[in-house]
Amino acid sequence: MSASHPRLVVVGGGILGTMHAIEGARRGYSVVHLERDEEPLGASVRNFGLIWVSGRAGGGELDLALRARERWEEIALLAPGAGFRANGSITLARSEAELAVLEEAVGRSDARLRDLALMTPAQVRATNPAVLGEVRAGLWCGRDATVEPRRTLPALRNGLESTGSYSYLPSRQATEVRPHAVRDHTGQWHEGDIVVCCIGAWPGGFLAEALAAAPLRRVRLQMLETEPFLEPVTTSLADGDSLRYYPAFAGEALQGLPPQADVAARWRAQLLLVQRVGGELTIGDTHDYSEPFPFDVDDEPYRHLVHVAAALLGSDLPPVRRRWSGVYSQVTDDRLYYRAEVAPGVVVVTGPGGRGMTMAPAIAEETFL
Ligand SMILES: Cc1cc2nc3c(=O)[nH]c(=O)nc-3n(C[C@H](O)[C@H](O)[C@H](O)COP(=O)(O)OP(=O)(O)OC[C@H]3O[C@@H](n4cnc5c(N)ncnc54)[C@H](O)[C@@H]3O)c2cc1C
Repeated sequence: MSASHPRLVVVGGGILGTMHAIEGARRGYSVVHLERDEEPLGASVRNFGLIWVSGRAGGGELDLALRARERWEEIALLAPGAGFRANGSITLARSEAELAVLEEAVGRSDARLRDLALMTPAQVRATNPAVLGEVRAGLWCGRDATVEPRRTLPALRNGLESTGSYSYLPSRQATEVRPHAVRDHTGQWHEGDIVVCCIGAWPGGFLAEALAAAPLRRVRLQMLETEPFLEPVTTSLADGDSLRYYPAFAGEALQGLPPQADVAARWRAQLLLVQRVGGELTIGDTHDYSEPFPFDVDDEPYRHLVHVAAALLGSDLPPVRRRWSGVYSQVTDDRLYYRAEVAPGVVVVTGPGGRGMTMAPAIAEETFL
């Protein structure tokens, strides 16, 4: 379009849209970025902020996660406000059966790529002195990292604004596409060499038809945050139930796990815990696949998650400060995410599931290949 700079239009201010804006700017595009809300409110600000390599399936999924992890580290240098920390994680086993799953993981050929190590309880405590509860062992992953999800998007946009060829247009809802262009609700058309729509879990009218047959489903999660916890929790933490949800742990030893506790099974719960820079603990999560989703959050899984977290830390938690739910879009076939051209020069990218915060930089890179 423009003789000097190619032009990229991005729809959606979540992490996928923002990483596409960053990737476009890196490749010399001038970027126009539309977001429906005044400030994004979707999955990208409701998550843990875990850049989670440990749980990814070996092969293509791990390769993409490792590339994303590398890009996150580079991007974080330009956006220090995102709070990127290479803090690593420890997945804690409390039984012999869980320990067997960890042993299987460290025995795999890709363990070194993930920087995995099996830890005794004493090594767990030396690495993360906040873990004072009874544990049988820990699985260290040195490639896992964290960002601050409530600060990341504005911090990334600040970095983009300094390029001089980026304009962010909040409170603009995309309503229609035609080849190489998208119209917002004010009637303005935005033309681009490429238009990338990263509209998250709720595509709305303008893409509803294009996505009607796409292999996508929505998943709803419940989360909480405590008041500041006084001890530093130096790594992110996961419990043994997380082994059931992350594909990295699929294998013979996983079959040896006893059934989950009733409440955890009912809510498809796992414990993930990360300390925010202000000391608060973000704790989750649950998984609900059946729509329509409830509009309220339910107390039962919170009581369970707080109980598990307190048992692992060997200490009462501070009072809960906030609770919320979030919904992500997930591909239901063997793709890692969904990308489709819905009109010439107009691409939709969504469906990364529970790994979108991790994978977004590498997914954006692939869009331009
Ligand atoms: C509770 C929870 C915890 C999670 N934890 C993690 C984690 O720790 N690590 C990890 O890797 N992943 C995690 N995930 C997954 C991750 O958050 C998502 O995969 C990712 O945020 C999806 O990003 P997105 O940009 O596609 O969607 P969103 O963040 O939902 O952004 C989509 C944006 O598009 C905008 N939009 C939609 N329609 C229009 C339109 N018509 N016009 C203009 N704008 C529009 C929306 O307003 C929204 O801001 C978690 C998800 C949830 C819900």
